[in-house]
Amino acid sequence: MVAVEVNEVRTALRDGPASGAGHRETDALRLIPSCREKLLGEASAPHPPSMPTIGAQRLARPRPPAYAFGRNRNPSLTPPAGHTELPFMTTSPLPTVVVLATGGTIVSSGASATQMTGYSITNFSVEMLTAAVPALQEIATIECRQVANIDSSSMTSRVWFDLAAAVEEAAARDDVVGVVITHGTDTMEETAYFLNLVVKTGKPVVMTGAMRPSTAISAEGPLNLLNAVRIALDPEAAEKGVLVALNDAVVAARDATKVEQTNVAAFGAPNAGLTAMISGPRIVWLSAPVRPHTLRTPFTTARFEGLAKLPRVDIVYSHTDDDGVMVEAAVAAGARAIVHAGTGNGSIHDAAETALFTAAKKGVVVIRASRVPGGATVESLAAWQEAGFIPAGNLNPQKARVLAQVVLADPKATAEDVRKAFLTY
Ligand code: ASP
Repeated sequence: MVAVEVNEVRTALRDGPASGAGHRETDALRLIPSCREKLLGEASAPHPPSMPTIGAQRLARPRPPAYAFGRNRNPSLTPPAGHTELPFMTTSPLPTVVVLATGGTIVSSGASATQMTGYSITNFSVEMLTAAVPALQEIATIECRQVANIDSSSMTSRVWFDLAAAVEEAAARDDVVGVVITHGTDTMEETAYFLNLVVKTGKPVVMTGAMRPSTAISAEGPLNLLNAVRIALDPEAAEKGVLVALNDAVVAARDATKVEQTNVAAFGAPNAGLTAMISGPRIVWLSAPVRPHTLRTPFTTARFEGLAKLPRVDIVYSHTDDDGVMVEAAVAAGARAIVHAGTGNGSIHDAAETALFTAAKKGVVVIRASRVPGGATVESLAAWQEAGFIPAGNLNPQKARVLAQVVLADPKATAEDVRKAFLTY
């Protein structure tokens, strides 16, 4: 069954009341049992061939089998160390949600219940996290796959390539209704926007994480994971691109940004607001992303075939006494583009301007973004437009960098392609 048909079945089953145009409430818990009946028999359908993956190396690389919980569990695999499988709650087939794990605080542990920083990600696993949330097994068959296990402050485009392939592979399966990605919060917004531009699926893709290690008092990872799976099961989450869901707030990938360093209310969208909120058992949908994403972009994973990483794009942060030395360093390092995180409306220090003009003349794409979290960088001094500087709109510097990298991954891409991309995505 293709994604659209799954959604039709699931939409037909939905009996949640609409509470006004553009503001629909869906009771995920009520939906799931009826969905389960209708999807009976589909879970055993053979999987389609895997989606194409990035690069010949990956095609040849054997994958470790994923340990699945519940009905889809493979009896020949043993549960991960330290894990006892919980009893499966129902005899009915449940929809499958694939959880792709990449590391981060959500799978970290500290020395004590009060250790909130400086913890380690080596002693805890996504399987242990999943097992700690028995409610998951009442609503879905959870299949876990470890794509990476890193602190997301050390994220690489290599992991992004693997993750994009894993999302597409999971989403292509008829029995999978949605994909959840566990990820550190530090660079979650960049990974979310990358996947939002690239992965070709209309099924829900929901990213979550945690600010407190699993061992902390009031660790919020288990509830964030449960809510992410609930969202992945909700038909309303389909075709919304990649979503970031933590602390009862759901934000579309393009708008999501980390707004707190240690507070659990870590994500917001200064310009756009929430896409949905979790209120008890309900997912209250509030808005939908307006820019093209996932199925509606021309960017596919094929674009990265043969690349070890995305092209170099540096962010240069402006400040008082800026003298352009960092711009020159970026050019010397071989940057294909420079995102200038300027002051105010992407303003440029007089003493750094010449370095940016020189960079543009050498063919480096110069993008004007802003240090200011709210608002949009738009055209300003005529000389900057004449030099070809591209305003980043309301993409923050780190998101502007991702978009430039994705466009410039095609060696034939021009500055004009980058300009158009900033107006479109
Ligand atoms: N440093 C961690 C990471 O991004 C923080 C977190 O997950 O909240 O992986």
